[in-house]
Parts: sequence; structure tokens; C-alpha cells
Amino acid sequence: MSKFVNKSNTQLPVRDEYAKVISKIADDGVCPFCPEHLAEYHKKPFETKKFWVVTDNMYPYKPSLHHRLIIHIEHITHIDQVSPPAWHELMEIFIKEVADRKITGGTLIMRFGETKFTGASVSHLHAHIVQSNPDDPAYDKVKGLVMRIG
Ligand SMILES: [Zn+2]
Repeated sequence: MSKFVNKSNTQLPVRDEYAKVISKIADDGVCPFCPEHLAEYHKKPFETKKFWVVTDNMYPYKPSLHHRLIIHIEHITHIDQVSPPAWHELMEIFIKEVADRKITGGTLIMRFGETKFTGASVSHLHAHIVQSNPDDPAYDKVKGLVMRIG
């Protein structure tokens, strides 16, 4: 049992590849989103701000046009650990990301705390910006996006 990743939360309809990656990370016993490990497990370019790292999701929700990750740099797991300046920077990142990508409709997601309540696979606090693709046959009109990875 890893304190950094929750393998049981990859049992949703996900690609085998993602489940294997999470299993490897659990076996490695490290946090894939901590700065010293991020480049090893995350193969997308990322931009480092003062409090957050901004990048594309390696395993975007399907069907999505954009799926950005904003990862708190310091390893924290709960929103009660986010400082006011970090919240402010996160808001600025949201606004810039949405503007830069001309996202006219989307979803912000931030799961926090114990992963058994959230479905998160990585416990290190991070946020998602997702713009789904309503033209994809897999698009879920009720949810607005599909919580399926891969
Ligand atoms: Zn971490």
C-alpha cells in the first residue's frame, strides 16, 4: 500500500497502461508529482511557477480537447495546506490557461485529502482543467466530461 498513489482508483475503465504506471509507482514507493520524481514519471513539458507546476496530463480524460494539470510544487495532500499566495497564483494560472487555450466551456477539478473519498490515483495535491469534446461519441451529456482516463 503506497501513501502516494491509490492503485484501486485505477480500476475504473482505464487503459492498462495507466494502471501499470500507477502500479510501478506504488512499487517504487515514491510520489510521482514531487519535484525530484516528476521528470521521471511525467514525460510532458512542464512550466514551473512559484507554487505550482503547469503541464498537460499524461493520461487525459476522454474525450477531452484540453486536459491541463496544475501540481502544487511542495508535497501536500489537502486544500487546508494551501497558502493564500498559492491560492492566488492558482487562480491566475486558471485564468491564463483558459484564456491562452480559448476555452469557452470547461471543468475545474481538484480532489484533496484521502483518496478513498475522491477517486484520485495520485495523492499529491493537483488541479485539473478539462475541456471536453462534445463532438466525440463518447461524450457524456450529463457529466459534461467522461471521467475515463486513457
Ligand atoms: Zn508528492
